[in-house]
Amino acid sequence: MVLPRAGVAAGRTSPPLAALSQVLRLERSRRTAIVFPLQKLERYLAPGTDTARFRLFQPGLAALQRAEALFRSDRGHPIDYVSSAVRMDHAPPPALPEVCFIGRSNVGKSSLIRALFSLAPEVEVRVSKTPGHTKKMNFFKVGKYFTLVDMPGYGYRAPQDFVEMVEAYLQERHNLKRTFLLVDGVVGLQKTDHIAVEMLEEFGIPYVMVLTKIDRASRGLLLKNVLEIQEFVKENTQGCFPQLFPVSSVEFSGVHLLRCFVAHVTGNLPTVEAC
Ligand code: GDP
Repeated sequence: MVLPRAGVAAGRTSPPLAALSQVLRLERSRRTAIVFPLQKLERYLAPGTDTARFRLFQPGLAALQRAEALFRSDRGHPIDYVSSAVRMDHAPPPALPEVCFIGRSNVGKSSLIRALFSLAPEVEVRVSKTPGHTKKMNFFKVGKYFTLVDMPGYGYRAPQDFVEMVEAYLQERHNLKRTFLLVDGVVGLQKTDHIAVEMLEEFGIPYVMVLTKIDRASRGLLLKNVLEIQEFVKENTQGCFPQLFPVSSVEFSGVHLLRCFVAHVTGNLPTVEAC
């Protein structure tokens, strides 16, 4: 007998707009805002503004659907939490292409990972926020395609062993294809984000910035933050992908595109050209 999985048994279902099929039922402008949040913002820029960096990664529907299939679990394609580690020698073997998510505590990292995995409701995104509790790297395996790592949130109270854990991971993990640095879309780049950028630049590894909680920012504020951060990336970074990825884990804006970018950088979208 095949037992239903825990999440399914508990009656958990995906939130609205978690699936592309739901988004495609929306009227055109709302659909664009959900799938390509930057394109929606483009309309409000002064004429002549260079928007090339808004559209560097712009997959078609087939690629978005292919990516969604990777994030949708079924019996032949399990998506599972694998393990947690506080040290590199506790990390699972680096057998698959990997991506990791880092950011300040409270930036919206667990919410985003939950949104990405919302079509695999049995996946538990563990959250350890109790002060004093050891923060860990959490590994998730997406079938036989890639692993996704939820790194402990950094902040002014991050202990030294945390810094060593994250730095060691970023420097040593040879299967790491891309680091996703989460920045709060409402408050923009903070001092701790700059420290993270400096670290990633020093290590010379490829990364990309994700702007979180965009549903909380007014259009004007979001545009200001997007343009400022884009300029910062252009002027001050080597390893950062020039396109930003704004997301809302509540409204699902940008989540479908981000799934597609993850699928792409892990080599699971053969039809999209490399970025
Ligand atoms: P983490 O510490 O980085 O894992 O942050 P969480 O995912 O726990 O989010 C921190 C707070 O921000 C929580 O109260 C979330 O409900 C809220 N939050 C996270 N993402 C979003 C979002 O996209 N939109 C809104 N409105 N709130 C969010």
